[in-house]
Amino acid sequence: MDHRFDPALECLHRVFGYHDFRGRQREIIDHIREGGDALVLMPTGGGKSLCYQIPALVRSGTGVVVSPLIALMKDQVDALREAGVRAASLDSTRTGAEAARIRRDLLTGELDLLYLAPERLLMDSTLELLDRAPTALFAIDEAHCVSQWGHDFRPEYLQLSILGERFPGVPRIALTATADPRTRQEILARLALNRAEVFVSSFDRPNIRYRVTPKGNTRDQLWRFIRQEHPDDAGIVYCLSRKRVDETAAWLASQGRDALPYHAGLPAETRRLHQERFLHGEGVIIVATIAFGMGIDKPDVRFVAHLDLPKSLEAYYQETGRAGRDGLPANAWLAYGLQDVITLRQMVDQSEADEARKRVERGKLEAMLAFCELTTCRRQALLQHFGEELDEPCGNCDTCLEPVETWDATEPARKALSCIYRTGQRFGTGYVIDVLRGGADERIRRNGHHRTSTYGIGADLPAATWRSLFRQLLARGLVTVDEEGYGTLQLTEASRPLLRGESTLELRREGVKRRAKAKRTATRFDDPDDQALFDALRRCRRQLADEHGVPPYVIFHDATLVEMVEQRPADTEELAGITGVGERKLERYGDAFLDILSTSHHPAYRPSGE
Ligand code: ADP
Ligand code: ZN
Repeated sequence: MDHRFDPALECLHRVFGYHDFRGRQREIIDHIREGGDALVLMPTGGGKSLCYQIPALVRSGTGVVVSPLIALMKDQVDALREAGVRAASLDSTRTGAEAARIRRDLLTGELDLLYLAPERLLMDSTLELLDRAPTALFAIDEAHCVSQWGHDFRPEYLQLSILGERFPGVPRIALTATADPRTRQEILARLALNRAEVFVSSFDRPNIRYRVTPKGNTRDQLWRFIRQEHPDDAGIVYCLSRKRVDETAAWLASQGRDALPYHAGLPAETRRLHQERFLHGEGVIIVATIAFGMGIDKPDVRFVAHLDLPKSLEAYYQETGRAGRDGLPANAWLAYGLQDVITLRQMVDQSEADEARKRVERGKLEAMLAFCELTTCRRQALLQHFGEELDEPCGNCDTCLEPVETWDATEPARKALSCIYRTGQRFGTGYVIDVLRGGADERIRRNGHHRTSTYGIGADLPAATWRSLFRQLLARGLVTVDEEGYGTLQLTEASRPLLRGESTLELRREGVKRRAKAKRTATRFDDPDDQALFDALRRCRRQLADEHGVPPYVIFHDATLVEMVEQRPADTEELAGITGVGERKLERYGDAFLDILSTSHHPAYRPSGE
């Protein structure tokens, strides 16, 4: 291939081992190379890093990258150095000698990329150093940190607006995965990116399969999902409470999985250790509260499971987005039930927030619940929530894959509503269902509810169907729970037309599910020989990673190993054609992997240690 007139493409091939640019990468890179400023909005895993790494490599001077977390910088620098890029990070963990060396390399132009925290960049000494150094560009990663309304606000980010004044000839590129228009405007204004071009990508994550399961025995459901679909994959399990995190992690560990808890109640050292094991290990499951996630760049997280309902669709999108950054198939699995709806409603009602804030929170919860109860494509609804249209149903969510049956629930719903009314709107679901089914509970007799007209009128339906019905009534706002936190059911205005027989109600049918057959997942192969080869390649990667003290994915991504299994490259040249095998990695690791690939051609090949 002739690269003479295309240094960016040459760099993509040689350094990163990739064949083509993705999405808008090409446009963005050209724009920066020509000296323009840019704001880049791309979902997690969209490929933001290359947008500044390649221009930094092809322009003269050093690319200066501002990043909010030391852990993130370290990861990026490790990965770049493995690919043969001269990258460094200047942070508080550097010794004086190391820092001096980095400064020297910077001044002599022997550094391609320098990563810095904002506070370090803003120090007078650093700015003066940069006055004298050739600078290729400034990249401001996680640019939404300038937003005072966001969760990740970092005051120092506000001062980054000085870069434009002080270094007028140096292009600036701000990047974020936060989609909403208000944050976008804030970034442009606060970073004084007056002439920046804005590049917005689709926020769809097509490789993530969205699934929502009604809760039965949650633990069994989770275990079936993990055992059948992710027997040795890394994943994250989110729970609402610390207690549930601890219990779930201990239980998964007792089932033989490498599962670790992570929440704000654990000592900082334990948290650090668990995060480290998650990043460096293979197949580790982190069970966490939402405290876990920011700054997790692990590309091969194969699943994100929610055992409790997220508070909003924004949170759901962000948390599930941590799966499948490498573009391989990944699962977003959510179990939710009646109690989730009640608990979250109560959390909002009882919070300290003022009424306006509570209204916003309730609205977000409604949107989340509506998403759970969808009978149409989940991806279409999710993207629509973020202002994006998807023309066709996606074919990669549960409602697309197993169309939902609905049933006419008008009559049972009216029975349920009138039973709530007849019992005085003073009882929870358990009690109301008992009355409906004509239960023998002693409380019913004591309250005289065995004499009401609704006693026993629902005996024809099993309790599970009633629970599903109450959950859907709650989710649709036809019923609500009291604000004091007792969980008593109350009718709402919206339920009147139904009670009066003026409207009907179609609900999801739940219960007997067709047994989903075990699906081929990203790193599971149908052919046992393929599986054995993949496992052998993975062991080789593991060993190299340990020797180099880096996470396995820094050596090669899963996607690269999968392609090796599919293509079976036989020599260096063929190996160079595999996605993710750049010049430097070929040189360093080519032989080790070719050895394994060549033994696998012999019929006598048996993986060791199995
Ligand atoms: P982001 O920062 O947007 O979350 P990254 O920059 O970490 O995403 O990229 C996500 C993954 O996609 C990385 O594993 C990266 O190596 C890979 N990637 C990025 N661009 C390409 C490309 N053009 N071809 C193949 N893989 C790519
Ligand atoms: Zn779909």
